[in-house]
Amino acid sequence: MCYSIPGKVLEVNDTLVTLDYFGEKRKARNELFQISCGEYAYAQGGFIIQKIPGVQAEAILDSWQELFFKLKEIDKRLARDSGTRYQKANQIRQRYHGNSCCVHGIIEFSNYCRNDCLYCGIQHKNLSLKRYRMEAAEIIDAAVYAVKKLGFKALVLQSGEDEYYDEDTLIAVVEGVMRQSPCLLTLSIGERSPDTFEALYRKGLRGVLLRFETSNPQIYATMKPGHSLNQRLELLVTLRKMGYLIMTGFLIGLPGWRKEDIIKDISLTAELGAEMFSFGPFIPCPDTPLAKEVQASLETALEVIAEARIRNPEAKILVTTALETLDKKNALQLGLMAGANSIMLNVTPSRYRQLYSIYPFRAGTDTAIESRIEFVVNLLQSLGRAPTDLGVS
Ligand code: SF4
Repeated sequence: MCYSIPGKVLEVNDTLVTLDYFGEKRKARNELFQISCGEYAYAQGGFIIQKIPGVQAEAILDSWQELFFKLKEIDKRLARDSGTRYQKANQIRQRYHGNSCCVHGIIEFSNYCRNDCLYCGIQHKNLSLKRYRMEAAEIIDAAVYAVKKLGFKALVLQSGEDEYYDEDTLIAVVEGVMRQSPCLLTLSIGERSPDTFEALYRKGLRGVLLRFETSNPQIYATMKPGHSLNQRLELLVTLRKMGYLIMTGFLIGLPGWRKEDIIKDISLTAELGAEMFSFGPFIPCPDTPLAKEVQASLETALEVIAEARIRNPEAKILVTTALETLDKKNALQLGLMAGANSIMLNVTPSRYRQLYSIYPFRAGTDTAIESRIEFVVNLLQSLGRAPTDLGVS
């Protein structure tokens, strides 16, 4: 299975490329390749991430041709608004994005963290957790496997704030992945200096996943001792100016959070120019100071997605693993039908997957990745969604 459909290059205007997907035109930025009209390429997040030989691309397009239009019809039919807030949000998603759905793979490469966020199971103070770190070569191998064998075109590499990985190591990882299996690569490693991120951008890193978790400075200071919301927001603004695609958002239902905060949190996500909105419901984790607090409900999490979609029609909105965890059978579908158009699959090597326990019983940690992919592909097709890139406007 392939999580992206190649586009045919119709026009090249400096770094802006127009791609054709079965008659639909989308634009993408090209900063990494020599590319000409008539060639084929994959785009993700509005960036050209791989060129693909014509014969191979045409074979893939042939296999998609019939399905592509069938999926669009299914999506249109399912996106009729018959009155609920979720249906309204889903109809807006369909109107602005068609049936495009981004599929990311995530590799969690270290569960060490120097911080002590109260809600997080891998916080430094949690001495009961078995820790692991993947070496640079192992991270690169896992990424190459995800791209070349499993078919992912967009990857997130995630860890706690772990200084074991210094700038040179991170550069080696990004360079290694981009050389051996180019993809839309995102790092989620917490806060680092702008200089480090600048150096990583030069090596081909294009995305940063860094949630601000709450727009309320007091809740932030309580939940993340020793850190300030301003510092995080400043970093996000700097990274966006550097050219990074920003994935950000918040935790729904942290202690002290009220329903009225939904609008403020969604507005801040939008103000930060997020490429992708990421909202995770708070799930209390054993061995943390918040272990006995109340879990956010599935209903509230879906309301947040729908509200975000209605207020930000053009946003890409992720169904987070935490949301899926609230109802492993149905939440992914419910999220996609409430306005979301992006998903993330855990491709961490199986021996580590359960150890990245930021909260318990995470979706996707107890299933072989191949079965998980099969489940997700079948679900996407039943909903009429296709893995085309949305492009840049
Ligand atoms: S939320 Fe992130 S920074 Fe905070 S303890 Fe967990 S991994 Fe570390």
